[in-house]
Amino acid sequence: MTRCLDCGSPRTADQCPSCGLTSAAAEVMFRRRLLKRTGVFLAGSLMFPYISQIYPPLDVDLMLVVFGVIFFVALALAVILDRRAHKHQELEVLKHSYAGCILLPWIFAAFLFVNGRLDSPKNVVYHTAIVDGRYNMPGIVRGTRRLIVRSWRSGQNYERLAVDADDYERFQPGDQVNVGVEPGALGIPWYFGIYRR
Ligand SMILES: [Zn+2]
Repeated sequence: MTRCLDCGSPRTADQCPSCGLTSAAAEVMFRRRLLKRTGVFLAGSLMFPYISQIYPPLDVDLMLVVFGVIFFVALALAVILDRRAHKHQELEVLKHSYAGCILLPWIFAAFLFVNGRLDSPKNVVYHTAIVDGRYNMPGIVRGTRRLIVRSWRSGQNYERLAVDADDYERFQPGDQVNVGVEPGALGIPWYFGIYRR
């Protein structure tokens, strides 16, 4: 049994009994919607790394890796959907999986935004640390600059702090610093700032 690409109803003839579209017309409609949804997904995929630099969680790199996996899975789904639509193959399950992926970057971004925005500067806790190293990797949104310090958290060896360009230039390995950390309104500790001791 094949299903209409547009509305998903089962159909026996070329024209869908439910929405009245022919299989060719339904394919065009499906493509159009797929393109729109992919646009929403890509916009969110720029938003998430952007917010993650404004209110960077301490585990920002782990989050970016998880996010990267979701990103490539979703794009692969979009490509498969496009191909299957072209061949008029069954795609109901994939369609729903893709729909589930689309809002994820927006949900991630909103979560980090609320976590940082609703936190009070009064909650900042300062940890003494020594700069151990640093690295700079150019990227799509604003690049990745990290100052590496020994961690004050148990079970964690290093903290890779998501610093801005100024702080990146200001500090060298060996510098004694205080690292400001906020607890996060939603419980995700995030890096607030770094200061010379
Ligand atoms: Zn239909």
